[in-house]
Amino acid sequence: MKIEIITTGDELMSGLTLDSNFNWAGDLLSNLGFDLAYHTTVGDIKERITEVFDIALNRARAVIVTGGLGPTDDDLTAEVAAEYFGSTLELNQEAYAKLENWMKERGRTLNESNKKQAYLPACSTMLDNKWGTAPGFSIESKGVIFFFLPGVPREFHEMMRHYVVPELHNRAQDRMKRDMRLVKIFGLPESEVAERLKGLQMEGVTLGYRSHRPEIHLRVCAFADTDSQAKSLTQNYIDEINARIGDYVFTSQGELLEEVVGRLLTEKSLMLATAESCTGGLLASRITDVPGSSAYFLEGVITYSNEAKENMLGVSASLLEAHGAVSAPVVEAMARGVRELSGSDIGIGISGVAGPGGGTAEKPVGTVYIGFDAEGSDTISKKYLFGGSRDQIKNMSSETALDIIMKFLITKI
Ligand code: AMP
Ligand code: MG
Repeated sequence: MKIEIITTGDELMSGLTLDSNFNWAGDLLSNLGFDLAYHTTVGDIKERITEVFDIALNRARAVIVTGGLGPTDDDLTAEVAAEYFGSTLELNQEAYAKLENWMKERGRTLNESNKKQAYLPACSTMLDNKWGTAPGFSIESKGVIFFFLPGVPREFHEMMRHYVVPELHNRAQDRMKRDMRLVKIFGLPESEVAERLKGLQMEGVTLGYRSHRPEIHLRVCAFADTDSQAKSLTQNYIDEINARIGDYVFTSQGELLEEVVGRLLTEKSLMLATAESCTGGLLASRITDVPGSSAYFLEGVITYSNEAKENMLGVSASLLEAHGAVSAPVVEAMARGVRELSGSDIGIGISGVAGPGGGTAEKPVGTVYIGFDAEGSDTISKKYLFGGSRDQIKNMSSETALDIIMKFLITKI
């Protein structure tokens, strides 16, 4: 059953408003395994809206229209729908009573503009909007169901869930079951991923690539007659991905890298502390974005200046003098310092040149050192040379630090 979504409004065409209703509905419908076949956006112009309805009627079996149900003069959807389906606008008594009540509850009086929203095509069925003022409606014509929903995102979401999804389920009984898994990779360039996954094909499974710098995301999607068949298809496919590039896969469940790290720290009952220079707290911020991170994250310090590295972490002035702040001995001392001072099991130190200025021949922009210290093992560090903008270098540094922690936790029994 082909579905079309039509989003309306000049604000969408001019780029002023992001078409988030489509993003949201696209995600919802494709996750439910519906065949979302078309998406059209049109401005608030009568002839064009009519044209778009006509195209949709001829190519889809279910059409979801959003926007243009409001009280203002540029809200044309109901009027165009009435005309297109050979009907007229009529005051819907139920909608009107609800609208009056809604206004009364909020101590407002109903004016003519508000009243406009209660005029629906005579041929339509009202869809009660319990979340706002503009009622929605549906019209069936030539075996095609049209849903007309408000543009306000919250109202649109609720009405999609309450009216549209159940009705689509009724109409698409023979729908295939779908399973979708998101596999995330870090540390391997996209071309190398493609090379290693070459020829990996399984009937009923599709693979989609999405670059999500510095990660690569693979969307593995399977269709089958039953849920369990679809799930086993994606699992078989993911087993094969793991056999080929498993060392670089950090999740096949769509998790964030910081979530994986948090889960592993929790499993192993270990505490983490971080000392950051060039990343300015980005690593700690990502770690604490995960709910429940207080169970494993003890502290994060931003020691940007040499003085801070000395005063807060006990990095010696002579070490800073001899090697410079961006160096292996300094990040190791930072990692050790923050671990010892906080009493955590793992300490991380990051220092680098994020640019765009400050690079030298010896330490060009993008040079980053990451130090790692864990209870019972030697302090280690590694030098990296990251490319890109300041933002990208900071992001890559935090990502690499998380990757180091993850790899340590995976191998630690
Ligand atoms: P309307 O029902 O067209 O009057 O839309 C009401 C408000 O909802 C608009 O001012 C927009 O801010 C918002 N809106 C309408 N359509 C969309 C859409 N497709 N995505 C996100 N927001 C929207
Ligand atoms: Mg509008």
